[in-house]
Amino acid sequence: MKRGLLIVLSGPSGVGKGTVRKVLMNNDSLNLYYSVSMTTRKPRVGETEGVDYFFVSKEKFMSAIKNHELLEHAKFVNNYYGTPKFYVEKLRDEGKNVLIEIETRGAKQVMSSYAEDDRFVTIFLMPPSFEELEKRIRGRRTETDEVVKERLNKARREIALNKLYDFVVVNDSPENAANEIANILKNKSLD
Ligand code: 5GP
Repeated sequence: MKRGLLIVLSGPSGVGKGTVRKVLMNNDSLNLYYSVSMTTRKPRVGETEGVDYFFVSKEKFMSAIKNHELLEHAKFVNNYYGTPKFYVEKLRDEGKNVLIEIETRGAKQVMSSYAEDDRFVTIFLMPPSFEELEKRIRGRRTETDEVVKERLNKARREIALNKLYDFVVVNDSPENAANEIANILKNKSLD
């Protein structure tokens, strides 16, 4: 049996990664599993523990780093985010494809640790325009002006890194973007 793929999906805050991911997860033919991250950020309305994130204290996060439990981690705006290592490798060993949705700093760490892994693919989701992205980040209305500003700055810096990824997909609609990603994964699975 072939090991499952490790798929890194990045893209600036507000680009719609969550929506595209949900369309992909509904496509059973992709044999796709989502790796739930750990974060010190507080849950947003509608987010569920263990589904969207494992919401933890800063102390718990720091001890996960210390105990080498994370595949990668990064500080994003004011919070920490990281990928628990155990499930990713366990699922891949079972032949399942694992999707991790992470920001660019964590993605760079994964790119260097998985450089030799040929069942590894990186995808960057781009907004149709920066204006569109700004509208979406501002429209969320759950964050302070300061946080919105920091997310916009970080978005600009992340977009500048899209060339580091194997594939760049424009999110003009979640269905189109998910379709394009599904084709990338099907081709890669055949390798
Ligand atoms: P949000 O607070 O909007 O849910 O996430 C902020 C950013 O952190 C997003 O770009 C998201 O993809 C990224 N992120 C989520 N989980 C992880 C993770 O485990 N590691 C890293 N490096 N970034 C993550």
